[in-house]
Amino acid sequence: MLVMVVERVLLVLAVALGYVVLCIAKPKHRCGRCSGNGSRAGKRSRSACGRCGATGRSFRPGAQLVHAGLVLVVHTWRERRAGDE
Ligand SMILES: [Zn+2]
Repeated sequence: MLVMVVERVLLVLAVALGYVVLCIAKPKHRCGRCSGNGSRAGKRSRSACGRCGATGRSFRPGAQLVHAGLVLVVHTWRERRAGDE
């Protein structure tokens, strides 16, 4: 019973880690609102997409959070190294 729970937790952690790696490697993906067009089709006036700013690329959910966390980790690591010397 406990082994099953541990296996599930490890699986969830592995998937989460995989997503974090994906966010670091490819933080942006095709915009979901305009499907990469940069403007919203089907409307009378083709206005620029508000989510991606007409670039057709938007950040993955959590990518900016992952990036902020990475910056924090690198910053802390550098300060610790500077403190040792
Ligand atoms: Zn868009």
